[in-house]
Amino acid sequence: MERVAKEQLYGCRMCGQCALPDTGYTCPMTCPKQLRNGPCGGVAADGRCEVHPDLVCVWVTAIERGQAAGHGADLDLLQRPVDHREWDRSSWVNYWQGRDDGLGVAYSEDDPRPLLRRELGLSPR
Ligand code: SF4
Repeated sequence: MERVAKEQLYGCRMCGQCALPDTGYTCPMTCPKQLRNGPCGGVAADGRCEVHPDLVCVWVTAIERGQAAGHGADLDLLQRPVDHREWDRSSWVNYWQGRDDGLGVAYSEDDPRPLLRRELGLSPR
C-alpha cells in the first residue's frame, strides 16, 4: 500500500527511511545522486539539475515547498546516511516500530561532531 500510494504521489523509491516530512514532501531519493542533505554543487543558476537538465533540482523544489508550507526550518535538520539494508521495507512500519527515530537531527553548535559520530557516541576526530 505504501509503495503504490507514495510512488504515485512522490516518486517514492522505497528506501524505508522516509525523509518526506523534513523535505517539503519532496523525495530526496529522486535526486540522481540521492543526496539527503541538500543540493550538490552542480545545480544550475536557474535551479536545473546538472544530471538531468530537463528537470528542476529536487532540493529547489523541497526548499520552495517547505517554505511555502511554513516548514522551511525542517530543511536544516541533518539526515543520517541511508541504511541500505532498509530498501524495499516499509518506512511506515519502521516509523511505528521506532526504527527510524532520529532520522532528522538538529545540528548543535554545542556538539559539532559529524552526525554519525554523535549518534555512535564517538568523540570528535
Ligand atoms: S520512503 Fe524514501 S524513497 Fe520513499 S518517499 Fe520517503 S524518502 Fe523517498
